[in-house]
Amino acid sequence: MTTKKRTRQRSRSDERASKKRLKEQLAEEHLYTAEEMLREKWGKRFRTVSEVEKYLEGIIGVPDFREKFCHCKGFCVFDGRGSQLARGRFVNGEFHLTLPRWARVELIILHELAHCLSWDGHGPVFCSYYLKLVRRFMGEEMYVELRDWFDDFGVKRRWSERRFHRKAYGGDPDFTL
Ligand SMILES: [Zn+2]
Repeated sequence: MTTKKRTRQRSRSDERASKKRLKEQLAEEHLYTAEEMLREKWGKRFRTVSEVEKYLEGIIGVPDFREKFCHCKGFCVFDGRGSQLARGRFVNGEFHLTLPRWARVELIILHELAHCLSWDGHGPVFCSYYLKLVRRFMGEEMYVELRDWFDDFGVKRRWSERRFHRKAYGGDPDFTL
């Protein structure tokens, strides 16, 4: 292969990568806008970390949630002092949620929890889990509204858990979350 060809190929793949990044950024902005549209309905607000912990215990204690995410050994909530960023990560078998004051509200807690369950940033797997959590723990009405905003803003949320499960484990998942 000539150098010229190689350069051209590289620049094409650079272009593809930057387009992909741009798309991801746009999707992220759209996701945040969809959440903003529903700001009045973000759900129950919690003052302290221990109130959030109680709320999370209620979610994680649900038998089929525990069964499905049996790899999770527990969770830690950090108060996010000194930072404005909320965060959710899966670390050493635990869900780690960083929740500054503004983020101690149902919808955002579920958003960060969805990050603990998924692996694609704000991609379709994340959105799919996020919506499932909202449907299960905030109710049908909130789920439908958030889903419709996602669709209006073109936020990708379709991801076949069933297909993933079949491919990975050779059978259908036996949970309903
Ligand atoms: Zn997020």
